[in-house]
Amino acid sequence: MHEPRKLYVKSFGCQMNVYDSHRMADTLAREGFVETQDPAEADLVILNTCHIREKAAEKVYSELGRLRKQKQEAGSDTMIAVAGCVAQAEGAEIMRRAPVVDLVVGPQSYHRLPELLADARAGKRVVDTDFPVEDKFDHLPAPTRAATRSRGPAAFVTVQEGCDKFCTFCVVPYTRGAELSRPVGKILDEAARLVDQGVREITLIGQNVNAFHGEGPDGTVWSLALLMERMAGIEGLARLRYTTSHPRDMDDDLIAAHRDLPQLMPYLHLPVQSGSDRILAAMNRKHGREDYLVLIEKMRAARPDMALSSDFIVGFPGETETDFADTLDLARRVGFASAYSFKYSPRPGTPAADHEAQVPEAAKAERLAELQHLLEASKAAFDASCRGKTFEILLEKPGRQPGQLIGRSPYLQSVVVNDPPAHVGELLTVTITDVGPNSLAGVPVGEAGTSPSSVLSRPLAAMEA
Ligand code: SAM
Ligand code: SF4
Repeated sequence: MHEPRKLYVKSFGCQMNVYDSHRMADTLAREGFVETQDPAEADLVILNTCHIREKAAEKVYSELGRLRKQKQEAGSDTMIAVAGCVAQAEGAEIMRRAPVVDLVVGPQSYHRLPELLADARAGKRVVDTDFPVEDKFDHLPAPTRAATRSRGPAAFVTVQEGCDKFCTFCVVPYTRGAELSRPVGKILDEAARLVDQGVREITLIGQNVNAFHGEGPDGTVWSLALLMERMAGIEGLARLRYTTSHPRDMDDDLIAAHRDLPQLMPYLHLPVQSGSDRILAAMNRKHGREDYLVLIEKMRAARPDMALSSDFIVGFPGETETDFADTLDLARRVGFASAYSFKYSPRPGTPAADHEAQVPEAAKAERLAELQHLLEASKAAFDASCRGKTFEILLEKPGRQPGQLIGRSPYLQSVVVNDPPAHVGELLTVTITDVGPNSLAGVPVGEAGTSPSSVLSRPLAAMEA
């Protein structure tokens, strides 16, 4: 009997990459690879990369430098593969800059990994960044029950890939290609199988998930709202989410789904990028500031306990102090429960990168700090408003202390519970008793009337995993 070969996959960037990393591991499991968390003992290392900002892309080269050193010191023959969006955008450049790399594979070719690896093992330096005619999803094997269990009770399912929106700052339409939706039947099969294997929460993912327009079993085109209505009928599936949405594609059916589907969590990540109409137009976002604010009102009318999250870019070319003030104002008005914010990073090949009016780095840094200060206060206020509320949480993993479990609230907050009367993979109704910077603490309903401080015998900071 051969020892199983060991695979180490490191994911950078978005949820799409996390999902893709799992599917690559599933594909290679058939070739006899088992996953390890230690790159030093791996026979194959895959870096699944992100190209969205310069910093994200540069991380790959520093990681490759570390791997080269590790390989040299150990005298090992570990193979190194680079996958994901940096692979897609800079395949030949990676081979030139990093001779340690054996294989470069773009996101549309993961199903070809076994044959590409065989070529690399035969001594070729392989670059596959084609957009093949065959559908990779038809060839990627489903995870085994053991693999699904090891990944926990919350899973991602890709329903859509690519983007046709062409925001002027963004590389996605170039690295991930044109928008493509998977057929409804295949998505439902994948979801049902995951639920049968113990998954309780599914997040439907896509670069532009609410632009979903997959072929339904009846041959007509189905919207995301219709898909989710059908998903909600899968017995055993307790929770549904979807990300990332574009404001332009939030139609009335999707808003109504938040009112009508109890499984759909009252939390939405809806990137706005800027609060200035002038900048939104220059970004080619296809929506204005008022459109966004009206949407939020509609969402909250449909589902009063709805909380929002967003992405912001500061220092987009031409952004003035007045534009930035509009962004701060929009953030204040919405009161986001959480948000990501970034300095604009010029990406080669995108229209905004060639814009003359680039904002100086110092101004970008100053604006980012000011916006983040506001967004952190907004998040803290939302978290504080959860104290004393009762939520159902999905228990996902053990905490740091014996007997502790960590679950997720409907709003994706981590909730620490001591000695819960339930197991990982189960839902538990808790009352939030304490709020820390990175997580909340809760006690099962019924126990909340007792003294919370006797349940929380340690300070929250010490309990956080
Ligand atoms: N599809 C989503 C949307 O329409 O907003 C987001 C996709 S992108 C993977 C995630 C986030 O990265 C964006 O929302 C944006 O805030 C940020 N981002 C994209 N390109 C960027 C750039 N060139 N510089 C800084 N941030 C960027
Ligand atoms: Fe990028 Fe999102 Fe704009 Fe598409 S919609 S180009 S993924 S930011």
